[in-house]
Amino acid sequence: MSTLLARLKANLDSVQQRMEAARGRSSLAADAVQLLAVTKYVPLEAVEALAELGITHVGESRPQQLLERAAWRPDLHWHLIGHLQRNKVRAVLPQIELIHSVDSVRLLKRIDEIAAELALRPRVLLEVNVSGETVKDGFEPGSLREAWPEILQCQHLELAGCMTMAPHHASAENLRAVFRNLRALRDELQSHPASPPLPELSMGMSDDFEVAIEEGATIVRLGSVLFENCDL
Ligand SMILES: *Cc1c(COP(=O)(O)O)cnc(C)c1O
Repeated sequence: MSTLLARLKANLDSVQQRMEAARGRSSLAADAVQLLAVTKYVPLEAVEALAELGITHVGESRPQQLLERAAWRPDLHWHLIGHLQRNKVRAVLPQIELIHSVDSVRLLKRIDEIAAELALRPRVLLEVNVSGETVKDGFEPGSLREAWPEILQCQHLELAGCMTMAPHHASAENLRAVFRNLRALRDELQSHPASPPLPELSMGMSDDFEVAIEEGATIVRLGSVLFENCDL
């Protein structure tokens, strides 16, 4: 086994144990939490190594890099976790497993329109700026509530849930509150009579994934914790 593969495997084993322990402290069923490996900072050899270790879901934050890599490894499931410009929707939709980062009604409507044209039914998550940090992309909770009836009119996509990023350097209580609030907002939106089920909560990154799982995350997006000591 190469050094990269061995180190990556050690990291992956440890992360999966930590995920399972956190899952045990949550109300989630076994296997309810998906690991999304975020590969935006690592070279292709690291993606190869992940795939060799059985990781099939990978996330990129830049549409251009996602497209290049998805063309190279179409067998993997590619997730977009960063901002999507409206003029990239047409190129991205056919390649994508899940878009985590839909941050406006305009973008959602564009996705719906292109999906109809291409006869696709993309799965999407709505990104919510729960903490109210001005630098963050995403819907404000209030504007998402307000836009909900309009959002439900999009017929050519599958609304699957919500995504958030916790603020950097948040205190432990603040962090937990962000994840709990996203879950509560999801529950509230889902209770609207015309809503589809919204099973997915994409929340938790390298520094906070255990708290996110305790609060109900179904997808954790992990980058740096997977690649520690890998010399990439
Ligand atoms: C980069 C990124 C991650 C992974 O971050 P790490 O802290 O390296 O785990 C997760 N989600 C989004 C949206 C990102 O941009």
